[in-house]
Amino acid sequence: MRLTRYFLPVLKETPAEAQIVSHRLMLRAGMIKQAAAGIYSWLPLGLKVLRRIEQIVHEEQQRAGHIPVLMPTLQPAELWRESGRYDAYGPEMLRIRDRHERDMLYGPTNEEMITDIFRAHVGSYKQLPLTLYHIQWKFRDEVRPRFGVMRGREFLMKDGYNFDLTKADALHAYNRHMVSYLRTYERMGLTAIPMRAASGPIGGDDTHEFLVLAETGESEVFYDSAIVDLKLGDRAVDYGDRAQLEAIKAEWTTPYARTDETHDPALFEAIPEARRKVGRGIEVGQIFYFGTKYSEPMGAVVVDEAGARVPVEMGSHGIGVSRLVGAIIEASHDEKGIVWPEGVTPFHVGVVNLRQGDAAADAACESLYAQLVAAGLEPLYDDRDERAGAKFATMDLIGLPWRVTVGPRGLASGVVELTCRRTGVSEELTPDAAVARLKAIYG
Ligand code: ATP
Ligand code: MG
Repeated sequence: MRLTRYFLPVLKETPAEAQIVSHRLMLRAGMIKQAAAGIYSWLPLGLKVLRRIEQIVHEEQQRAGHIPVLMPTLQPAELWRESGRYDAYGPEMLRIRDRHERDMLYGPTNEEMITDIFRAHVGSYKQLPLTLYHIQWKFRDEVRPRFGVMRGREFLMKDGYNFDLTKADALHAYNRHMVSYLRTYERMGLTAIPMRAASGPIGGDDTHEFLVLAETGESEVFYDSAIVDLKLGDRAVDYGDRAQLEAIKAEWTTPYARTDETHDPALFEAIPEARRKVGRGIEVGQIFYFGTKYSEPMGAVVVDEAGARVPVEMGSHGIGVSRLVGAIIEASHDEKGIVWPEGVTPFHVGVVNLRQGDAAADAACESLYAQLVAAGLEPLYDDRDERAGAKFATMDLIGLPWRVTVGPRGLASGVVELTCRRTGVSEELTPDAAVARLKAIYG
């Protein structure tokens, strides 16, 4: 993409309404525009990051054997009356009436709708196990929408639902979600810690929240610092291997890690003092096992091996896709702007032409651009007729992990400069070597 052909409405001033750094940077970098309280348009740069995050979520869910569907945002109230949640949910639910006076709602979550799909099409244990998920906009009329996309009213969520014959199978599905979520967050450059959670309006006993440590997080968290060092890395995970998943779950749930809602001071005090940490965290996901809470009232039953009709065992599992954009920025920025982890960056590399209009510099940039594209990378070429300082400031603000700087002086000796956004370290190398290096980085 050429910057002169792009739509990147960066702001010079720091918007006064934004209280936290991710919100300020998303507005300044032209990623979002508020439409109404807690409701945002995603501008091109923001949308690219959102899509990258979605893509990682899709890949990791499908790797775990979970199947994508897409349910609508608007739901009929009848389904929620069946589960008893239409009245229980309260003012966070946006209720709508259509022209035929039918009660509808903008879905805050989809347990009822997925259970309805299940009962219409599945009747035998032979069709299990089954996990369906979608990535769809939700609406929750939050009392205090704030912090930009972190606590919106309309927000994008991945929500997945497992259907199993037995509790043991459903707990295996729970573990698949735990491990696939760990991988998902790791690929986004995040450390997200599973913490034992108290169940909310969805209900259930077995539940963990995933929290990203950040001072601006809304939850107070208490944890053993040993948990922060755990990494899945590139270890081979076999999602069918129950023992392996159980072992990974144990690895992550044995060290103490809880939010204020479930905190147990006595257990916390038992951790060696040097490892006892108190901080704040952003909830970026939550997994629940809730058994037959919805299948029983809604009649989602299967015939088991003995011919008996049994309500199906379920769980639901959510990732805050749009909140993650803010959470990643909270975890990865500096005084100049955003520092995107390579896994979610909107463009792989920025190309800065120090002397736009100089024949040699323009030609070198064009050739570099073409080579980067041919290597399967997405460059953002700042081809504006601007001072070098302004170009660097824009690149630093929007946070691309790598920048190639091209100018007449370097070209005279056959080199360009490759700069790492995170460390600020630059090195001179030939354009070919720069392309090869970037290709290797993004592998
Ligand atoms: P919170 O406690 O932050 O209100 P929740 O526990 O009500 O969230 P869940 O039902 O667990 O939310 O939804 C799954 C995920 O969706 C959350 O972990 C969070 O990342 C995201 N999410 C929930 N509410 C919002 C919101 N208002 N804006 C953006 N993301 C949200
Ligand atoms: Mg939650």
